[in-house]
Amino acid sequence: MFGDLFEEDYSSVSNNHYGKGKKLKTKALEPPAPREFTNLSGIRNQGGTCYLNSLLQTLHFTPEFREALFSLGPEELGSLEDKDKPDAKVRIIPLQLQRLFAQLLLLDQEAASTADLTDSFGWTSDEEMRQHDVQELNRILFSALETSLVGTSGHDLINRLYHGTIVNQIVCKECKNVSEKQEDFLDLTVAVKNVSGLEDALWNMYVEEEVFDCDNLYRCGHCDRLVKAAKSAKLRKLPPFLTISLLRFNFDFVKCERYKETSCYTFPLRINLKPFCEQSELDDLEYMYDLFSVIIHKGGCYGGHYHVYIKDVDHLGNWQFQEDKSKPDVNLEDIQNKEEIDDPLMILKAILLQEESNLIPVDQLGQKLLKKIGISWNKKYRKQYGPLRKFLQLHSQIFLLSSDESTVRLLKDSSVQAESDIQRNDQQLFKTLTSESSRLNDRPSCPHWFDINDSRVQPIKEKDIEQQFQGKESAYMLFYRKSQLQRPPEARANPRYKVPCHLLSEMDAANIELQIKRAECDSTNNTVELHLHLGPYYQFLNGALHPVVSQTESMWDLTFDKRKTLGDLRQSIFQLLEFWEGDMVLSVAKFVPAGLHVCQTLNGDDLTLCEIEITDGEDIFVWNGVEVGGIQIPTGSDCEPLLLNVLHVATSSEGEECQQFIESPHVFPSNAEIGTVFTALAVPEGVILINNTESRDEENWTTIPKEDLKKTFREQGLRNGSSVLIQGSHDGNSLLTKQGKWINTVNEINWLQVKNLSQLESEEEQVKISATLNTVVFDIRIKAIKEFKLLKELAENSCLRPIDKNGKLLCPVPDSYTLKEAGLKMGSSLGLCPGKAPTSSQLFLFFALGSDVHPGTEMEITVEETVSVRTCLKIMLDKCGLTGDTWHLRKMNWCFEAGEPLCEEDAKLNELMICSGDTLLLIEGKLPPLGFLTVPIWWYQPRGPLHHWKDHQDQTNCTLSQGGVWKASSTPGAPSDAHAEVSLWYLGDLEISEDATLGELKSQSVLIWHVLYAMFSGHDLALLGVFHPIPSLPPSLDGGK
Ligand SMILES: [Zn+2]
Repeated sequence: MFGDLFEEDYSSVSNNHYGKGKKLKTKALEPPAPREFTNLSGIRNQGGTCYLNSLLQTLHFTPEFREALFSLGPEELGSLEDKDKPDAKVRIIPLQLQRLFAQLLLLDQEAASTADLTDSFGWTSDEEMRQHDVQELNRILFSALETSLVGTSGHDLINRLYHGTIVNQIVCKECKNVSEKQEDFLDLTVAVKNVSGLEDALWNMYVEEEVFDCDNLYRCGHCDRLVKAAKSAKLRKLPPFLTISLLRFNFDFVKCERYKETSCYTFPLRINLKPFCEQSELDDLEYMYDLFSVIIHKGGCYGGHYHVYIKDVDHLGNWQFQEDKSKPDVNLEDIQNKEEIDDPLMILKAILLQEESNLIPVDQLGQKLLKKIGISWNKKYRKQYGPLRKFLQLHSQIFLLSSDESTVRLLKDSSVQAESDIQRNDQQLFKTLTSESSRLNDRPSCPHWFDINDSRVQPIKEKDIEQQFQGKESAYMLFYRKSQLQRPPEARANPRYKVPCHLLSEMDAANIELQIKRAECDSTNNTVELHLHLGPYYQFLNGALHPVVSQTESMWDLTFDKRKTLGDLRQSIFQLLEFWEGDMVLSVAKFVPAGLHVCQTLNGDDLTLCEIEITDGEDIFVWNGVEVGGIQIPTGSDCEPLLLNVLHVATSSEGEECQQFIESPHVFPSNAEIGTVFTALAVPEGVILINNTESRDEENWTTIPKEDLKKTFREQGLRNGSSVLIQGSHDGNSLLTKQGKWINTVNEINWLQVKNLSQLESEEEQVKISATLNTVVFDIRIKAIKEFKLLKELAENSCLRPIDKNGKLLCPVPDSYTLKEAGLKMGSSLGLCPGKAPTSSQLFLFFALGSDVHPGTEMEITVEETVSVRTCLKIMLDKCGLTGDTWHLRKMNWCFEAGEPLCEEDAKLNELMICSGDTLLLIEGKLPPLGFLTVPIWWYQPRGPLHHWKDHQDQTNCTLSQGGVWKASSTPGAPSDAHAEVSLWYLGDLEISEDATLGELKSQSVLIWHVLYAMFSGHDLALLGVFHPIPSLPPSLDGGK
């Protein structure tokens, strides 16, 4: 049954630990953290349960309650083990509470869980818990407990400890008859609004009388008439534990909203309730109550957080830390608080407390004050409090002036005096006195206070309680215990006191289990796995170490506790390697692309692996520290080997004609001079170019100036995988051309560059695919897809398109072609693009709108080669989102201009010799029917311009059309009216049969002139329909003069 409890605990605690360590290697969940130095256990917040936790801690730190609960044995409560048995009477709530208290007392964990307890209340969701207010919860908890204890010896547990009574009395002024009503309470609710503190509130409730007078008379049953009377309430029976709820939350009826009363509300550490009680004949001590718990609410009225200040009555916690911390200068610390600087009483007392026998000459007191707060009494306080001496006199219950008034002394028993003399009008003074007295009497035997905030438990000073008098974070519930309740000496600092045996053994077992788990976890967290590389199994080759045998033989794994020393590790390795002779040096090694590299040698045999920062998975080279296989091994990160790609041109024996471009890996120490490349490749001299990028484009290559050849590879920023290009001085032409194709003197290259253009968003990658002129395009494509690690599906729906020197993607090459058939040159660039390549019966065409084509903006289309011009036009218009029949197609000619129109709309594309890769232009304007010509007609007019034409045009607001027909038919040197007096006037386009005679053309033209003339003369315009189309007018008719 205990196992369940822990499983829960582990899961929530271990989450907090994840992410702290570098590596998550915990196989088992981490056990909960042990208690902190306070040696007190908090309670985990289960989501909005902070108030429950505060209340439970208060009950827990009410030893009388705790012990009364513990006194109920299994014979009365049953046992949790039987809770699922139908006939067993198991009182789950008290049992769960017992166990929680036992855990809080004895289980070595930072925080306990209340999950089982809340389950016993039947609260299964956070929501149900959040519905309750802490004051409400107190009653619910008590009521639930009371109900579950019916029929046991604990049936009156709550009553015994918390029940009190109030008596309300009305006294008739006439017959003196007393009419009374008694009320029970488990807690007292007191007002906060317009009240300065607890005593003030109690005074209002239990001392002040309400008088029935004048208009508001009381009907006395005895006199049987309306009479004057006095109403009062008194505390009749005081419980051993007095719970007080502060009405911090109020309703603002003007604003119609809840608000939190944050005004100052004081409450004493010890209160004398005698003035508020009905009977006052008992000894004063019977009425004394000590504060032992303060539940604090932090936040506004619609949420917030609860925590609790608790007095550790039984000295269960460790408060040592706080004492040490507070010793140096508690008083100086006090006056850091601005409020306290404003209170001269505080300051003066603080100064006096530091003096021997708390005595000081009054003159010196003034000086010390100036020193402490940086301002004199006269400047700071005189205006408000009068002269210093006068102030001391006025507070004679605190300060004792000598008879000649030269010295002042702090009265140690001043507080006792004050306590027995509750001064309602001097609350502030009372507050300071009580807190001061507690400090004065702060002997180690005094119970200490702790702030318990869910899982966290921290020691606090008693005077910290004062900070909860007011503000957003302020006291919400107060718990007092009768001062006369004495704790037995054997309970002191004894968490096992009165805990029933079965819970003691349960906790002991659980603690052992926790210890084991922590130890296991600790060792798991502290082991590192080391990879030992044994020197004798390695050889130094090409600038780095390589195993001469298989890796399983050359590398040994060793699991080691990192809290052990390097000496321990060496010893263990010696034992592991029985064959080892001579010195053993352990060095941290590192795998680099060139091989294994020895970084630094480990020194300091008495240092732990932790201290020398050995991490999990570290590679350790085990050797003699000097050589491997007779070769001295360079060590250190300076000379870390770099694996570079060296490119150079080698001329074969057949001379210039058969130069060969060679690319080969070479390893160089990072601290070697870059010039050593020449030596390594046996090139006498030349130019070195470097490229630190993946791309081989020209702009990424930088030439190293001659003076920089002495710089190291590292200084030049070369990394593993960087490329170095060597150009011997006699290599002739540059290997880099201006177009970015960086090779031209090389006759035989054996690769193609493929760029990944299949994904729009991804970064552009490129790979080199080796090939010959006989390689099939399909193979190149599949290799590229593999190299790019792209999805296999792409093989079905992608194509390769050559990239021209402008970066333009050309028409896709069919998969079945060899590179030679596709006309691809070695070394050229291809783009891997989405979409299938056209089949042998399809055409891949570019097209654009208008004749003004910007390269790269063309659209693309794949059509069957047998489609008609008409269909092709329709498809292209659709793609552009255009409609209508006033369009035609022209083929773009080799100088990027619109060529002849494709007149035969029914002709098939292949019949018109349209090929893949051609660009067609969509031009506005309908073509004349087959066999007709469109002829622009101009009127030659030797005299001045026809001004009225323009006038007319303005009148009709005719739009000047700049249609494609006009523009396309205009050629350089077109007739222009700009030439002096001779003018040509454009009349319009005339559509005429190819077979028409010149005479027919002439008569048609004259007709147009007549029609236009008629327009100006105001004649019938019906004739306009004769020719077709309606004339399109040139942009400017009179030369724009
Ligand atoms: Zn009466």
